[in-house]
Amino acid sequence: MRDALANFDAIAAGLDRRPPVLFLDYDGTLTPIVDDPEAAILEPAMQDRLKDLATRFRVAVVSGRDLEDVRKRVGINGLFYAGSHGFDIQGPDTRLEQPRARDYLPVLEAAERQLHEHFDGKPGVLLERKHFSIAVHYRRVSEADQPAIRECVTASANRKNLRITHGKKVIELQPPVAWDKGHALLWLMKALAVDPDAVTPFYFGDDITDEDAFKALPPHGVGILVGGHEGPSVARYRLADPAAVAHWFDRLLASTY
Ligand SMILES: [Mg+2]
Repeated sequence: MRDALANFDAIAAGLDRRPPVLFLDYDGTLTPIVDDPEAAILEPAMQDRLKDLATRFRVAVVSGRDLEDVRKRVGINGLFYAGSHGFDIQGPDTRLEQPRARDYLPVLEAAERQLHEHFDGKPGVLLERKHFSIAVHYRRVSEADQPAIRECVTASANRKNLRITHGKKVIELQPPVAWDKGHALLWLMKALAVDPDAVTPFYFGDDITDEDAFKALPPHGVGILVGGHEGPSVARYRLADPAAVAHWFDRLLASTY
């Protein structure tokens, strides 16, 4: 995997013909990973960069967070936001709630009650209900106790016929619907009325769920893995951390595309 800063000129070479469209994950990409997901606040300097980028390019934020949560955290009007790993999308005059996922809301509610029974009072486990997902964060649990938590959540998902996705020290229950960040990216391209052949879609992400989006990019698209995760990646480029993402954005803003 090549470094996206060292190869900036090569990446940017075709952007005058095919302008960039930016798809950005939030946690670990625009903000550093922190112990408490609540504490992942967007730095004002990064927010200013995003505002500048949005005046010149189309920008969408594609996050595992609840739609309202990520929208508030980024706090810029006029962007497209995809929450719950793309199950819930909102943009100017656009809204998509995955209809098949909506059928599973009562099942998610039942699973949420069950997980609360298991984990309430368990130190270090943080349950986060999102509209279309339940996240069980276990970063603050000792390494020795983490497998038991994953097993418990997996068993609960199996009983309820829900899907499991793994992230960085988080395991999530989702509707068993074939929809992910990759599907969301393709849907967003349509919603943005962009011809994928006429633009260069970029996707920046740091986690396993971002791999679906890297895979969905057209051949001339640019996948940039920020930091890394435990699995293999299909991204062509990498950046070390959100600070390197900030530098890359600055290079793009300083260019004339
Ligand atoms: Mg992330």
